[in-house]
Amino acid sequence: MSQWELSEFDVPPADDKDRFHDFALPLPMMHAIADLGYEYCTPIQSEALPYALSDYDVTGQAQTGTGKTAAFLIAIFTRFWENPLPEDLPPGTPRALVLAPTRELALQIEGDARGLTRHMDERTVCVVGGMDLMKQKDKLNKKPVDLLVGTPGRLIDFINRNDVSLKHVEVLVIDEADRMLDMGFIPDVRRIVYQTPHKKRRQTLFFSATFNDDVMRLAESWTIDPKHIVIEPESVATDTVDQKFWMIGDNEKEDAMVRLCQAPAMKRAIIFANRRDQTHRLTKHLQKNDIPCEALAGDIPQKKRLATLNRFKDGTLKILVATDVAGRGIHVDDVSHVVNYDLPEDPEDYVHRIGRTGRAGASGTSISFVAENDAFNLPPIEEYIGTTVTCTVPDFDLGASESGSVSGTLSETLSENKET
Ligand code: AMP
Repeated sequence: MSQWELSEFDVPPADDKDRFHDFALPLPMMHAIADLGYEYCTPIQSEALPYALSDYDVTGQAQTGTGKTAAFLIAIFTRFWENPLPEDLPPGTPRALVLAPTRELALQIEGDARGLTRHMDERTVCVVGGMDLMKQKDKLNKKPVDLLVGTPGRLIDFINRNDVSLKHVEVLVIDEADRMLDMGFIPDVRRIVYQTPHKKRRQTLFFSATFNDDVMRLAESWTIDPKHIVIEPESVATDTVDQKFWMIGDNEKEDAMVRLCQAPAMKRAIIFANRRDQTHRLTKHLQKNDIPCEALAGDIPQKKRLATLNRFKDGTLKILVATDVAGRGIHVDDVSHVVNYDLPEDPEDYVHRIGRTGRAGASGTSISFVAENDAFNLPPIEEYIGTTVTCTVPDFDLGASESGSVSGTLSETLSENKET
Protein backbone atom coordinates (compact mmCIF):
# COMPACT_ATOMS: atom_id res chain seq x y z
CA MET A 1 0.00 0.00 0.00
CA SER A 2 1.25 3.48 -0.74
CA GLN A 3 2.85 5.76 1.80
CA TRP A 4 0.76 8.59 0.50
CA GLU A 5 -0.92 10.88 3.02
CA LEU A 6 -3.91 13.12 2.66
CA SER A 7 -1.81 16.11 3.69
CA GLU A 8 -0.14 15.83 0.28
CA PHE A 9 -3.45 16.77 -1.33
CA ASP A 10 -3.90 20.29 -0.12
CA VAL A 11 -7.05 21.97 -1.39
CA PRO A 12 -8.20 25.04 0.51
CA PRO A 13 -11.89 25.10 1.46
CA ALA A 14 -13.93 27.34 -0.85
CA ASP A 15 -17.31 28.95 -0.20
CA ASP A 16 -18.99 27.91 -3.39
CA LYS A 17 -17.43 24.51 -4.04
CA ASP A 18 -17.13 21.18 -2.28
CA ARG A 19 -13.83 19.40 -1.92
CA PHE A 20 -13.50 15.65 -2.25
CA HIS A 21 -12.09 15.87 1.28
CA ASP A 22 -15.60 16.69 2.50
CA PHE A 23 -16.93 13.23 1.64
CA ALA A 24 -14.75 10.91 3.73
CA LEU A 25 -13.62 8.94 0.68
CA PRO A 26 -11.14 6.06 0.97
CA LEU A 27 -7.54 7.23 1.15
CA PRO A 28 -6.38 5.36 -1.99
CA MET A 29 -9.21 6.97 -3.88
CA MET A 30 -8.22 10.43 -2.64
CA HIS A 31 -4.72 9.60 -3.80
CA ALA A 32 -6.03 8.78 -7.28
CA ILE A 33 -8.19 11.92 -7.35
CA ALA A 34 -5.09 13.95 -6.48
CA ASP A 35 -3.15 12.18 -9.24
CA LEU A 36 -5.90 13.04 -11.71
CA GLY A 37 -5.50 16.69 -10.81
CA TYR A 38 -9.08 17.21 -9.65
CA GLU A 39 -9.43 19.68 -6.83
CA TYR A 40 -13.03 20.62 -6.28
CA CYS A 41 -16.15 18.64 -7.05
CA THR A 42 -18.05 19.60 -10.17
CA PRO A 43 -21.71 20.56 -9.52
CA ILE A 44 -23.03 17.10 -10.33
CA GLN A 45 -20.48 15.52 -8.01
CA SER A 46 -21.43 17.92 -5.21
CA GLU A 47 -25.09 17.16 -5.68
CA ALA A 48 -25.01 13.45 -6.45
CA LEU A 49 -22.30 12.16 -4.11
CA PRO A 50 -24.14 12.74 -0.82
CA TYR A 51 -27.02 10.58 -2.08
CA ALA A 52 -25.10 8.08 -4.17
CA LEU A 53 -22.73 7.43 -1.26
CA SER A 54 -25.71 6.87 1.04
CA ASP A 55 -27.24 4.20 -1.12
CA TYR A 56 -30.01 6.29 -2.64
CA ASP A 57 -31.10 5.85 -6.21
CA VAL A 58 -30.27 8.92 -8.26
CA THR A 59 -31.64 10.18 -11.54
CA GLY A 60 -29.39 12.84 -13.01
CA GLN A 61 -30.02 15.16 -15.90
CA ALA A 62 -26.52 15.95 -17.04
CA GLN A 63 -24.47 16.00 -20.18
CA THR A 64 -21.08 14.57 -20.87
CA GLY A 65 -18.40 16.90 -19.62
CA THR A 66 -20.07 17.63 -16.31
CA GLY A 67 -18.05 15.03 -14.39
CA LYS A 68 -20.92 12.57 -14.01
CA THR A 69 -18.69 9.56 -14.70
CA ALA A 70 -16.44 10.30 -11.75
CA ALA A 71 -19.55 10.91 -9.64
CA PHE A 72 -20.92 7.41 -10.13
CA LEU A 73 -17.53 5.69 -10.14
CA ILE A 74 -16.52 7.28 -6.85
CA ALA A 75 -19.80 6.09 -5.31
CA ILE A 76 -19.32 2.56 -6.64
CA PHE A 77 -15.72 2.07 -5.55
CA THR A 78 -16.29 3.69 -2.17
CA ARG A 79 -19.07 1.19 -1.54
CA PHE A 80 -16.77 -1.69 -2.50
CA TRP A 81 -14.01 -0.38 -0.28
CA GLU A 82 -16.33 -0.05 2.67
CA ASN A 83 -17.98 -3.43 2.10
CA PRO A 84 -15.33 -5.90 1.04
CA LEU A 85 -16.63 -9.34 0.17
CA PRO A 86 -15.63 -12.23 2.45
CA GLU A 87 -14.63 -14.13 -0.64
CA ASP A 88 -14.35 -13.44 -4.34
CA LEU A 89 -17.33 -13.96 -6.62
CA PRO A 90 -16.84 -16.29 -9.57
CA PRO A 91 -15.39 -14.71 -12.74
CA GLY A 92 -17.93 -12.90 -14.89
CA THR A 93 -20.01 -11.91 -11.87
CA PRO A 94 -19.64 -8.15 -11.38
CA ARG A 95 -20.65 -6.21 -8.29
CA ALA A 96 -21.49 -3.17 -10.40
CA LEU A 97 -22.62 -2.75 -13.98
CA VAL A 98 -22.43 0.39 -16.11
CA LEU A 99 -24.39 0.40 -19.36
CA ALA A 100 -23.44 2.95 -22.00
CA PRO A 101 -24.79 3.45 -25.52
CA THR A 102 -21.54 3.63 -27.45
CA ARG A 103 -18.20 1.90 -27.54
CA GLU A 104 -16.36 5.20 -27.15
CA LEU A 105 -18.28 6.16 -24.05
CA ALA A 106 -17.88 2.69 -22.52
CA LEU A 107 -14.11 2.74 -23.13
CA GLN A 108 -13.89 6.21 -21.64
CA ILE A 109 -15.74 5.06 -18.53
CA GLU A 110 -13.40 2.06 -18.27
CA GLY A 111 -10.42 4.42 -18.49
CA ASP A 112 -11.85 6.71 -15.82
CA ALA A 113 -12.49 3.68 -13.58
CA ARG A 114 -8.89 2.54 -13.99
CA GLY A 115 -7.70 6.05 -13.14
CA LEU A 116 -9.78 6.26 -9.99
CA THR A 117 -8.79 2.78 -8.76
CA ARG A 118 -5.10 2.95 -9.59
CA HIS A 119 -4.25 2.64 -5.91
CA MET A 120 -6.99 0.14 -5.12
CA ASP A 121 -7.41 -3.51 -5.77
CA GLU A 122 -10.54 -3.27 -7.94
CA ARG A 123 -10.85 -4.80 -11.36
CA THR A 124 -12.77 -3.23 -14.24
CA VAL A 125 -13.59 -5.04 -17.47
CA CYS A 126 -15.20 -3.46 -20.52
CA VAL A 127 -17.23 -5.38 -23.10
CA VAL A 128 -18.17 -3.56 -26.29
CA GLY A 129 -19.19 -4.46 -29.81
CA GLY A 130 -16.86 -4.04 -32.75
CA MET A 131 -13.87 -5.36 -30.82
CA ASP A 132 -12.45 -8.82 -30.37
CA LEU A 133 -15.01 -10.93 -28.49
CA MET A 134 -12.55 -13.65 -27.51
CA LYS A 135 -10.17 -11.21 -25.91
CA GLN A 136 -13.00 -9.76 -23.87
CA LYS A 137 -14.12 -13.27 -22.96
CA ASP A 138 -10.62 -14.11 -21.73
CA LYS A 139 -10.61 -11.03 -19.55
CA LEU A 140 -13.96 -12.03 -18.11
CA ASN A 141 -13.00 -15.63 -17.48
CA LYS A 142 -9.54 -14.97 -16.11
CA LYS A 143 -10.31 -13.35 -12.77
CA PRO A 144 -13.23 -11.96 -10.76
CA VAL A 145 -14.52 -8.63 -11.98
CA ASP A 146 -15.70 -5.82 -9.72
CA LEU A 147 -17.00 -3.37 -12.29
CA LEU A 148 -18.30 -4.36 -15.69
CA VAL A 149 -18.80 -1.61 -18.26
CA GLY A 150 -20.52 -2.44 -21.51
CA THR A 151 -22.72 -1.63 -24.43
CA PRO A 152 -26.03 -3.53 -24.42
CA GLY A 153 -25.62 -5.74 -27.50
CA ARG A 154 -22.25 -7.20 -26.59
CA LEU A 155 -23.26 -7.66 -22.99
CA ILE A 156 -26.28 -9.70 -24.06
CA ASP A 157 -23.97 -11.90 -26.15
CA PHE A 158 -21.93 -12.64 -23.05
CA ILE A 159 -25.00 -13.25 -20.92
CA ASN A 160 -26.34 -15.68 -23.53
CA ARG A 161 -23.00 -17.51 -23.56
CA ASN A 162 -23.06 -17.71 -19.76
CA ASP A 163 -19.85 -15.74 -19.52
CA VAL A 164 -21.58 -13.08 -17.47
CA SER A 165 -24.00 -13.37 -14.59
CA LEU A 166 -25.63 -10.24 -13.20
CA LYS A 167 -27.21 -11.77 -10.14
CA HIS A 168 -24.74 -10.17 -7.72
CA VAL A 169 -24.97 -6.68 -9.12
CA GLU A 170 -25.20 -4.21 -6.24
CA VAL A 171 -25.06 -1.03 -8.30
CA LEU A 172 -26.54 -0.54 -11.76
CA VAL A 173 -25.65 2.58 -13.73
CA ILE A 174 -27.51 3.51 -16.87
CA ASP A 175 -25.65 6.24 -18.70
CA GLU A 176 -27.03 8.41 -21.49
CA ALA A 177 -30.46 6.81 -21.35
CA ASP A 178 -31.81 9.21 -23.96
CA ARG A 179 -29.23 8.04 -26.47
CA MET A 180 -29.97 4.40 -25.69
CA LEU A 181 -33.57 5.21 -26.47
CA ASP A 182 -32.73 7.02 -29.72
CA MET A 183 -30.51 4.16 -30.80
CA GLY A 184 -33.23 1.58 -30.21
CA PHE A 185 -31.36 -0.18 -27.39
CA ILE A 186 -34.11 -0.11 -24.80
CA PRO A 187 -35.40 -3.68 -25.37
CA ASP A 188 -31.82 -4.95 -24.82
CA VAL A 189 -31.36 -2.71 -21.81
CA ARG A 190 -34.64 -3.96 -20.35
CA ARG A 191 -33.53 -7.56 -20.70
CA ILE A 192 -30.26 -6.74 -18.99
CA VAL A 193 -31.93 -4.85 -16.16
CA TYR A 194 -34.16 -7.88 -15.49
CA GLN A 195 -31.08 -10.03 -15.05
CA THR A 196 -29.91 -7.87 -12.15
CA PRO A 197 -31.40 -8.17 -8.66
CA HIS A 198 -34.75 -6.45 -8.04
CA LYS A 199 -34.53 -2.69 -7.72
CA LYS A 200 -35.21 -3.01 -3.99
CA ARG A 201 -31.99 -4.93 -3.66
CA ARG A 202 -29.73 -2.86 -5.86
CA GLN A 203 -28.79 0.79 -6.16
CA THR A 204 -29.64 2.37 -9.50
CA LEU A 205 -28.01 5.51 -10.86
CA PHE A 206 -29.69 6.73 -14.01
CA PHE A 207 -28.31 9.52 -16.21
CA SER A 208 -29.64 11.23 -19.26
CA ALA A 209 -28.92 14.56 -20.95
CA THR A 210 -32.64 15.10 -21.44
CA PHE A 211 -35.68 13.86 -19.57
CA ASN A 212 -38.69 13.59 -21.86
CA ASP A 213 -41.73 11.43 -21.05
CA ASP A 214 -40.17 8.25 -22.44
CA VAL A 215 -36.97 8.71 -20.45
CA MET A 216 -38.99 9.53 -17.33
CA ARG A 217 -40.96 6.31 -17.71
CA LEU A 218 -37.77 4.27 -17.88
CA ALA A 219 -36.33 6.07 -14.87
CA GLU A 220 -39.50 5.42 -12.92
CA SER A 221 -39.60 1.74 -13.74
CA TRP A 222 -35.95 1.06 -12.85
CA THR A 223 -35.44 3.21 -9.73
CA ILE A 224 -37.05 3.55 -6.33
CA ASP A 225 -37.77 6.97 -4.91
CA PRO A 226 -34.77 8.49 -6.64
CA LYS A 227 -33.19 11.82 -5.83
CA HIS A 228 -33.49 13.83 -9.01
CA ILE A 229 -30.62 16.12 -9.89
CA VAL A 230 -30.60 18.62 -12.72
CA ILE A 231 -27.35 20.11 -13.94
CA GLU A 232 -27.91 22.92 -16.38
CA PRO A 233 -26.20 22.21 -19.67
CA GLU A 234 -23.00 24.11 -20.12
CA SER A 235 -24.45 25.79 -23.17
CA VAL A 236 -26.40 27.97 -20.78
CA ALA A 237 -23.08 29.25 -19.51
CA THR A 238 -22.25 30.41 -23.03
CA ASP A 239 -24.66 33.31 -22.41
CA THR A 240 -21.92 34.95 -20.40
CA VAL A 241 -19.35 34.51 -23.16
CA ASP A 242 -18.88 37.09 -25.89
CA GLN A 243 -18.20 34.80 -28.86
CA LYS A 244 -16.10 36.26 -31.65
CA PHE A 245 -15.29 34.54 -34.93
CA TRP A 246 -12.34 35.86 -36.86
CA MET A 247 -11.70 35.16 -40.50
CA ILE A 248 -8.10 34.36 -40.99
CA GLY A 249 -5.81 32.62 -43.46
CA ASP A 250 -4.53 29.16 -42.51
CA ASN A 251 -0.93 30.30 -42.80
CA GLU A 252 -1.54 33.43 -40.76
CA LYS A 253 -2.79 31.74 -37.66
CA GLU A 254 0.53 31.52 -35.84
CA ASP A 255 1.37 35.17 -36.28
CA ALA A 256 -2.15 36.25 -35.47
CA MET A 257 -1.82 34.27 -32.26
CA VAL A 258 1.36 36.13 -31.35
CA ARG A 259 -0.32 39.49 -31.85
CA LEU A 260 -3.33 38.42 -29.90
CA CYS A 261 -1.24 37.24 -26.97
CA GLN A 262 0.44 40.62 -26.88
CA ALA A 263 -2.88 42.37 -26.21
CA PRO A 264 -2.98 43.63 -22.62
CA ALA A 265 -6.61 42.45 -22.32
CA MET A 266 -5.48 38.80 -22.57
CA LYS A 267 -5.05 38.49 -18.83
CA ARG A 268 -5.53 34.76 -18.50
CA ALA A 269 -6.14 32.77 -21.64
CA ILE A 270 -6.51 29.21 -22.82
CA ILE A 271 -5.76 28.50 -26.46
CA PHE A 272 -7.25 25.29 -27.84
CA ALA A 273 -5.84 23.36 -30.75
CA ASN A 274 -7.28 20.16 -32.18
CA ARG A 275 -4.18 17.99 -31.97
CA ARG A 276 -1.28 17.49 -29.60
CA ASP A 277 1.40 18.23 -32.17
CA GLN A 278 -0.29 21.53 -32.93
CA THR A 279 -0.25 22.55 -29.28
CA HIS A 280 3.48 21.85 -29.13
CA ARG A 281 4.24 23.68 -32.35
CA LEU A 282 2.19 26.70 -31.35
CA THR A 283 3.68 26.80 -27.87
CA LYS A 284 7.18 26.84 -29.35
CA HIS A 285 6.25 29.56 -31.81
CA LEU A 286 4.80 31.76 -29.08
CA GLN A 287 7.77 31.18 -26.80
CA LYS A 288 10.12 32.10 -29.62
CA ASN A 289 8.25 35.37 -29.81
CA ASP A 290 8.75 36.05 -26.12
CA ILE A 291 5.29 35.07 -25.03
CA PRO A 292 5.46 32.93 -21.90
CA CYS A 293 3.10 29.99 -22.30
CA GLU A 294 2.99 26.25 -21.69
CA ALA A 295 1.34 23.33 -23.43
CA LEU A 296 -1.17 21.06 -21.71
CA ALA A 297 -1.59 17.85 -23.67
CA GLY A 298 -1.98 14.17 -22.97
CA ASP A 299 1.60 13.27 -23.87
CA ILE A 300 3.08 15.53 -21.22
CA PRO A 301 3.88 13.72 -17.96
CA GLN A 302 1.17 14.10 -15.36
CA LYS A 303 3.51 15.76 -12.87
CA LYS A 304 4.50 18.43 -15.33
CA ARG A 305 0.87 18.94 -16.34
CA LEU A 306 -0.13 19.51 -12.73
CA ALA A 307 2.71 21.95 -12.17
CA THR A 308 1.69 23.87 -15.30
CA LEU A 309 -1.93 23.93 -14.23
CA ASN A 310 -0.98 25.20 -10.80
CA ARG A 311 1.09 28.00 -12.27
CA PHE A 312 -1.86 28.91 -14.47
CA LYS A 313 -4.17 28.90 -11.47
CA ASP A 314 -1.97 31.04 -9.28
CA GLY A 315 -1.48 33.53 -12.11
CA THR A 316 2.26 33.01 -12.69
CA LEU A 317 1.45 31.64 -16.11
CA LYS A 318 -0.95 33.68 -18.23
CA ILE A 319 -1.33 31.53 -21.29
CA LEU A 320 -2.03 27.82 -21.70
CA VAL A 321 -2.13 25.97 -24.99
CA ALA A 322 -4.31 22.88 -24.60
CA THR A 323 -6.01 20.00 -26.37
CA ASP A 324 -9.66 19.25 -25.67
CA VAL A 325 -8.92 16.29 -23.46
CA ALA A 326 -6.37 18.12 -21.34
CA GLY A 327 -8.53 21.23 -21.31
CA ARG A 328 -11.57 19.52 -19.84
CA GLY A 329 -9.98 19.19 -16.47
CA ILE A 330 -9.32 22.90 -16.24
CA HIS A 331 -11.67 24.48 -13.77
CA VAL A 332 -10.18 27.90 -13.21
CA ASP A 333 -12.25 31.00 -12.61
CA ASP A 334 -11.31 34.33 -14.16
CA VAL A 335 -10.13 32.99 -17.49
CA SER A 336 -10.52 36.16 -19.55
CA HIS A 337 -10.17 34.61 -23.01
CA VAL A 338 -10.55 31.29 -24.72
CA VAL A 339 -9.08 31.10 -28.19
CA ASN A 340 -10.01 28.40 -30.67
CA TYR A 341 -6.87 28.20 -32.73
CA ASP A 342 -8.79 25.60 -34.71
CA LEU A 343 -12.51 25.01 -34.67
CA PRO A 344 -13.21 21.65 -33.04
CA GLU A 345 -14.81 18.92 -35.09
CA ASP A 346 -17.26 18.07 -32.37
CA PRO A 347 -19.58 21.00 -31.56
CA GLU A 348 -19.84 19.81 -27.96
CA ASP A 349 -16.13 20.48 -27.63
CA TYR A 350 -16.75 24.03 -28.77
CA VAL A 351 -19.15 24.55 -25.92
CA HIS A 352 -16.80 22.89 -23.43
CA ARG A 353 -13.93 25.03 -24.60
CA ILE A 354 -15.69 28.36 -24.38
CA GLY A 355 -17.22 27.27 -21.08
CA ARG A 356 -13.71 27.58 -19.58
CA THR A 357 -14.35 31.33 -19.55
CA GLY A 358 -17.39 33.26 -18.36
CA ARG A 359 -17.54 31.03 -15.29
CA ALA A 360 -19.17 31.73 -11.98
CA GLY A 361 -21.21 34.61 -13.35
CA ALA A 362 -18.17 36.47 -14.72
CA SER A 363 -18.11 37.48 -18.34
CA GLY A 364 -15.51 36.21 -20.77
CA THR A 365 -14.57 36.35 -24.41
CA SER A 366 -13.97 33.57 -26.85
CA ILE A 367 -12.19 34.12 -30.13
CA SER A 368 -12.40 31.46 -32.80
CA PHE A 369 -10.10 31.48 -35.78
CA VAL A 370 -12.04 30.54 -38.87
CA ALA A 371 -9.69 29.63 -41.68
CA GLU A 372 -10.28 27.61 -44.83
CA ASN A 373 -9.62 24.38 -42.97
CA ASP A 374 -12.04 25.28 -40.20
CA ALA A 375 -14.94 26.25 -42.42
CA PHE A 376 -16.44 22.74 -42.43
CA ASN A 377 -16.65 22.69 -38.67
CA LEU A 378 -18.64 25.90 -38.42
CA PRO A 379 -22.15 24.79 -39.55
CA PRO A 380 -22.43 21.99 -36.94
CA ILE A 381 -21.37 24.47 -34.25
CA GLU A 382 -23.97 26.96 -35.41
CA GLU A 383 -26.60 24.27 -35.30
CA TYR A 384 -25.54 23.10 -31.84
CA ILE A 385 -25.51 26.56 -30.26
CA GLY A 386 -28.66 27.51 -32.15
CA THR A 387 -27.41 30.71 -33.77
CA THR A 388 -25.84 31.81 -37.00
CA VAL A 389 -22.51 33.41 -36.29
CA THR A 390 -20.99 36.40 -37.99
CA CYS A 391 -17.34 36.22 -38.91
CA THR A 392 -15.42 39.47 -38.64
CA VAL A 393 -11.92 40.66 -39.31
CA PRO A 394 -9.55 40.30 -36.38
CA ASP A 395 -9.38 43.10 -33.86
CA PHE A 396 -6.11 42.58 -32.07
CA ASP A 397 -6.79 45.38 -29.60
CA LEU A 398 -9.73 43.28 -28.49
CA GLY A 399 -12.03 46.22 -28.85
CA ALA A 400 -9.77 48.65 -26.98
CA SER A 401 -9.64 51.00 -29.95
CA GLU A 402 -12.64 52.12 -31.97
CA SER A 403 -11.67 50.95 -35.41
CA GLY A 404 -10.25 47.50 -34.76
CA SER A 405 -6.77 47.91 -36.10
CA VAL A 406 -5.83 45.38 -38.68
CA SER A 407 -2.67 46.04 -40.58
CA GLY A 408 -0.04 44.56 -42.83
CA THR A 409 -0.47 41.51 -44.97
CA LEU A 410 -3.00 39.98 -42.63
CA SER A 411 -5.43 42.84 -43.12
CA GLU A 412 -4.99 42.74 -46.86
CA THR A 413 -5.91 39.11 -47.03
CA LEU A 414 -8.68 39.47 -44.57
CA SER A 415 -10.34 42.47 -46.14
CA GLU A 416 -10.86 40.39 -49.24
CA ASN A 417 -12.76 37.84 -47.23
CA LYS A 418 -14.86 40.30 -45.26
CA GLU A 419 -18.46 39.38 -44.40
CA THR A 420 -19.11 35.86 -45.50
P1 AMP B 1 -17.55 13.35 -17.82
O1 AMP B 1 -18.71 14.30 -17.74
O2 AMP B 1 -17.68 12.27 -16.85
O3 AMP B 1 -17.30 12.90 -19.21
O4 AMP B 1 -16.22 14.16 -17.35
C1 AMP B 1 -15.67 15.19 -18.08
C2 AMP B 1 -14.21 15.44 -17.75
O5 AMP B 1 -14.07 16.10 -16.51
C3 AMP B 1 -13.34 14.20 -17.68
O6 AMP B 1 -12.21 14.43 -18.47
C4 AMP B 1 -12.95 14.10 -16.22
O7 AMP B 1 -11.64 13.59 -16.08
C5 AMP B 1 -13.01 15.53 -15.77
N1 AMP B 1 -13.40 15.68 -14.35
C6 AMP B 1 -14.31 14.95 -13.67
N2 AMP B 1 -14.42 15.40 -12.41
C7 AMP B 1 -13.58 16.44 -12.28
C8 AMP B 1 -13.25 17.33 -11.21
N3 AMP B 1 -13.84 17.24 -10.03
N4 AMP B 1 -12.32 18.27 -11.44
C9 AMP B 1 -11.73 18.37 -12.64
N5 AMP B 1 -12.01 17.57 -13.69
C10 AMP B 1 -12.92 16.62 -13.53
